[in-house]
Formats: sequence, structure tokens, C-alpha cells
Amino acid sequence: MLPTAPVVRRPRRYLHFDALVQRVRQRFQKLPEQRRAPTFALADTLMAGLALFSLKDPSLLAFQRRALDHNLHTVFGLPAVPSDSQMRAILDDVDPAALRPVFRDVLRPVQRGKVLEDYVFLNGCYLLALDGVEYFCSQQVHCAHCLTRQQRNGTVAYYHQLLGAALVHPDFPEVLPLAPEPIQRQDGQHKNDCERNAARRWLQQFRKDHPHLPVIVTEDALSSNAPHVRDLQAAHCHFILGVKRGDHPYLFEQFEQGLLADQVQGVHEQDTRTGASRSWLFVNGLRLNESNQEVLVNFVMALEFEADDSAHEWTWVTDLGVRRGNVRQVARGGRTRWRIENETFNTLKNQGYHFAHNYGHGDNHLAVVLALLMMLAFLIDQVQQKCNPLFRQAWHKKGPKCELWETVRHLFASFEVSSMQEIYEAIVYGYVRPQLQALDAQTPASQAVASDTS
Ligand SMILES: [Zn+2]
Repeated sequence: MLPTAPVVRRPRRYLHFDALVQRVRQRFQKLPEQRRAPTFALADTLMAGLALFSLKDPSLLAFQRRALDHNLHTVFGLPAVPSDSQMRAILDDVDPAALRPVFRDVLRPVQRGKVLEDYVFLNGCYLLALDGVEYFCSQQVHCAHCLTRQQRNGTVAYYHQLLGAALVHPDFPEVLPLAPEPIQRQDGQHKNDCERNAARRWLQQFRKDHPHLPVIVTEDALSSNAPHVRDLQAAHCHFILGVKRGDHPYLFEQFEQGLLADQVQGVHEQDTRTGASRSWLFVNGLRLNESNQEVLVNFVMALEFEADDSAHEWTWVTDLGVRRGNVRQVARGGRTRWRIENETFNTLKNQGYHFAHNYGHGDNHLAVVLALLMMLAFLIDQVQQKCNPLFRQAWHKKGPKCELWETVRHLFASFEVSSMQEIYEAIVYGYVRPQLQALDAQTPASQAVASDTS
């Protein structure tokens, strides 16, 4: 017990790690068990996967070393840990679609706690970034759902991608991922899947999960094609999609003609301090491309001219009516798309989550189930970052995220605790090392942990 620890104000405890893990567990327990007389319950095995990614262990073997860890029971409710081969075999048979509702279960209290209100971006809508990412590639290891591509040297590469989705806002670094859609060979299909088909499935499922959530979807230039725009419209989603001169010559031609005819409107500003200037140009009601004349879009161009004469240009199409009063905000929404790439995929790859690391591939669903569990662990961490002051203090104290995860892993393995919150408290307020005398008397380590400030 730390006598000097100040009392921590704990608003919205239902958004803290331990409460969210409990919600996840409840969902996992509802999933139907297909196996007869299983050695390990499905819910426990899925929780073991979540614990693996919450602790960011670098391998299943490292996780296995925790097999007798008291804290796996108290923090994750695990009575025991399946062996790595049991874990791989059980998760390989889990239908990835069964994991979708758990993302909604985590988002719901975020919504109830009014946190989501911060993310309203424009016209009462949330900004939703969508993008595809590859998380596995091999020339040998493969499963029934691998995509394939012929490489230059004639060999075949097997790979997996997923379509990530996250609620984002330019003012906040935290992203709130929704259930991703696997881009993979569908059951019984011999053809590769593609991002456009995955987006169609994702949008249909999104509207089932969140029938009334008003969103503006923001994506890169690969998405600005007529079939996808129709899918977005069918799902009642607004959009701000990147466009490129090289890919959309007909659209840019109309814009140039609009400039000549003085139909393009704009807003300009000059930074007198740096000499840089910015312009936002727009014209409503252009045709997206020549072969789909009926698909009308509004066009926005943002230009930045630096004092050294270098210039940058960004362009988007949107269904939002663009005016002088909102053109900057529309462009800002378009530029926030990078958060799915930077704050989500790059964080998963480079900040301790081991995304794209092969924890096991399986014959059926293992690769994608592990990817979904990792995304779920990331969502819970993002909610901590946004809503748990103690987590933020712990992070601030440790500096880089990897340092924080390292300390969490160390404390988790070294001291008995009853919650993750206790570990954050121990990081923030310190912990008392066991005394020699206490060790001689074989005092349980838990008595030496100073963490509970309640
Ligand atoms: Zn595969």
C-alpha cells in the first residue's frame, strides 16, 4: 500500500481497461461452442488471444511462459492458458464474422459516455477513415483464404489484407477502430478478393451494426470510382475521397474548364509571418468520369505555396455541398484520412503491437482471427488513451509507447495484481520493492506491491 499516493479521480470507470475486458469476455462467452467436450473453452482461448495482444508479447511462446501467472486469472479471467498448439487449433476454427459484435460492444460505452461527441466533425457527422492494409505475406506458408500473386521471379506469394475502418478527428490523435473486413479468398472461391468487394461487404455490415451513425467516409484516390460511390450512397454515407490528375483526367478537365469559365470559387489566405499562402478552390456538380456521367460530385482543391516557391496540391471529391464557409473543413476532413494509415496501421506495425508478425497461420481462419484480436486490443488501448487519465499519466511517465508496454509486461509478470488499473497506478505512483525481511518470511509478492489507491 502506498501511503502517499493521491486519490485518483476516476470518471467513466466503465471505459477503463478492466471494465472493457469484462464486456469483451461476456461477448466471447455468448459465442456458440462447436466442439464436443473441449479441453479449453472457446471464450478462454479468445481471451488468451486478447491478453497476448494487450500485453504485446512478441510470440505465443513468450505468452506461454505466463501459463501459471496469477494475473492472467485476475485481469483477464483466465483459469489456465491453452498450449500454443491448442490455441492455434481452436482459433483456426473461429468464424471471423463472430468477432464483429465485440467491436460494437466496446464502442457502445464510448458512445454512452459522450466521448464520441468529441468526434463529430461536420454537419453532425463523424469522420470515418477506410483503407486496406496487408498484414501477412509468405512464399511458403498459406491457408484456404490466402490471396495469391505471381511475383517477378515466377514464384507465388501468399498474402492477407484487411480493410481497416476507424472513426477519426483531426484534433485528436486517438482513433477508434470499428470491426475491420478481411480481404481474403471467400469460402469456396478460387478468385482473389479485392478491396472494392471488401468495402461493399463492410458498408453493408456497418449499416447493420450502426444503422443510424451519421458518417463522412474519407479514403484515398483508389476509392474514387463510380461503383464504390454508389455503394457509399446506398449505405447512406457521405464521402470525401482523394482524386488524382493521372487517374481522373476527365474530372480535372472539367475543373480546368470551370477555371477558364470563372465558375470555380475559392478562399485564400496569406501567412504574413512565413510568406506562405494557401488556397481552397471548389466547384460543385462535376462528373466523376466519362463512362459514368450520372455520378455527380463536388470537387475541392487545396493548394499551399511556401515562401521558397515550393507548392503542394491535394484534391478530393465529395457529396457534401461545398461553400466558401465549409471548404476548409472539407479539405481538413480529406487530409485526416492519413490517420488510418499513420495512427492505426503504422502504430500497429511500429509501436509494440507486432502487426504483420506471424503468430501462426493455420489452415482456415487463424491468421485473420489473430489480426482481429490485435485490432481489438488496439481499440481498448486507444479508449484508455482517450478516456483513462491514469493511463495517460503512466504513458507520460514512461515516454515512448514501447517503454510503457515493456513496463506493463514487467509488472504484470513480477507482481500479483487484481486489475490493469493497479498496474497503471504502480507505474504512476511507484511501487515498493519486497524487503529482505519480508522475502525471508516468504511474504507473497502481492503484499509488497503498492498500487491500490482506492
Ligand atoms: Zn492464409
